[in-house]
Amino acid sequence: MSEKITTKERLYEIRDTVAKEPDFRGVDIETATEALDVFWERNKNRIANNLMVEQRFAVPLGGFTFKGFIDRVDLMPGTNNEIEIIDYKTGKSEPGPDARSKQLLLYARGIEHVYPQYKVKRLTLEQLGLPNPRTFELNGGKFESGGSSRMEGLDGNSVDGMIEIAKKIARDYEHGFERTKDEKACGECGYGLYCGD
Ligand code: SF4
Repeated sequence: MSEKITTKERLYEIRDTVAKEPDFRGVDIETATEALDVFWERNKNRIANNLMVEQRFAVPLGGFTFKGFIDRVDLMPGTNNEIEIIDYKTGKSEPGPDARSKQLLLYARGIEHVYPQYKVKRLTLEQLGLPNPRTFELNGGKFESGGSSRMEGLDGNSVDGMIEIAKKIARDYEHGFERTKDEKACGECGYGLYCGD
């Protein structure tokens, strides 16, 4: 969706249209509306700052290509090249510090690769099921937790950690690897289809 929504009524109209689509059958409208209300209250005064929505990116890092999808990018007020990346989550459970750092810092690298004219200054996790969004502000080269939250800042080494994992996967792919003896570990593993007996 690329329309700039300027009223809550329009947001509800879009909700009603989307709710009729087959993919959204079974979605609880009341819960969805609660999330939309939170979204509206937090964003109604910031719509003019919006720069982009639903941006795919691919960024080369350490010899690999990492891909991602960014929900929203806003221009920081009073600037013409500093941006905020916003990721929306509708549930109440939060990603842990490692997952949070990996995701948000990869997004920052991705958008700066695709749009080198912009510099990421703020990374935000909009958890619509929680009282406040989590924001991380660039300060002295690090993304520190913003607002009154005492949450730790983002781990600047996390993208390097992803590259190391990618290298291990590439090496295993090339040389093969032994299946784990603990079959319970396979339950959620995305390689289940490829590494079977
Ligand atoms: S399915 Fe995943 S966890 Fe199980 S053996 Fe394969 S790679 Fe290992």
